[in-house]
Amino acid sequence: MNSDYTQIIENAYKFVKPIKDHGKLATYIPELANVNPDKFGVHITKIDGNNFGIGDHLEKFSIQSIAKVLSLSLAVKFLGERIWTRIDVEPSGTKFDSLLLLETYKGIPRNPFINSGAIVICDILITHLENAREEFLEFVRDLSDIPDLNYSDDIADSEKATGYRNVALCNFIKSLDNIKNDPAEVLDFYFDMCSLEMNCEQVSRSFSFLANGGRKLSDGKRIITSSQAKRINALMLTCGFYDESGEFAFKVGLPGKSGVGGGIVALYPNNFTIAVWSPKLNPNGNSFKGMKLLETVTTHSEMSIF
Ligand code: GLU
Repeated sequence: MNSDYTQIIENAYKFVKPIKDHGKLATYIPELANVNPDKFGVHITKIDGNNFGIGDHLEKFSIQSIAKVLSLSLAVKFLGERIWTRIDVEPSGTKFDSLLLLETYKGIPRNPFINSGAIVICDILITHLENAREEFLEFVRDLSDIPDLNYSDDIADSEKATGYRNVALCNFIKSLDNIKNDPAEVLDFYFDMCSLEMNCEQVSRSFSFLANGGRKLSDGKRIITSSQAKRINALMLTCGFYDESGEFAFKVGLPGKSGVGGGIVALYPNNFTIAVWSPKLNPNGNSFKGMKLLETVTTHSEMSIF
């Protein structure tokens, strides 16, 4: 990889920042409409310990669906390979909150990163943990080395009050027998999980275990096996960007995951993790400037896995 990665990122940031984007905030979660739409930051954490950030990279944002990678990482620790009997590993080609394919596939979500799949993961965690809300938070605090990391009650409450679509999804899957616990409890945990707040520096550091064969960078502690890390990275590449996953692989060429808070995390195994945040979303629900920045970075460097 090019050694002047800081220059590449700084140049991409300066190039993308003034671009006029026509994206929109994700107002379907009312609290997200209060975010300053012009925020823009990026941070890279390299496996060799170096790191670099620019812009609003130290400001916290709602990581939303980016958290689904972390809940999956915890769930695979409990179920191992058996997890794939509850959720599939295929791109859905439909919107992230779609109910369409659940009927066809008998309540088995197409993958763990669309809402239906993440809701099933929450159900699995509730089955295996005494207090899923607290223990998931502990898990993320540990792997990120951020002891005061927390959920945002404002964001979670805002989504709990308006998340009819997720309520429908959870109840529909329950009717098809792939939710084992009380749907209200599963949804409560799902909304809390999505409300986690981190900044770009923290996201890029937290995800570095996936670029490091399943081990934390700071102390080498094993979080998941290297085979599990391989699978999660593969899922991020094929399913991490709603129905724009193909386009992200095509333009950026890195496994990653986006969230409707405007964050994107992407990684290059054995090399680096990078997190970018810009809240305005393109029509497919991915950060407009976040995608543009990552595309610019990988187009003008050897920082893509391809
Ligand atoms: N909490 C959001 C929802 O369930 C997450 C969506 C996302 O970031 O993709 O709609």
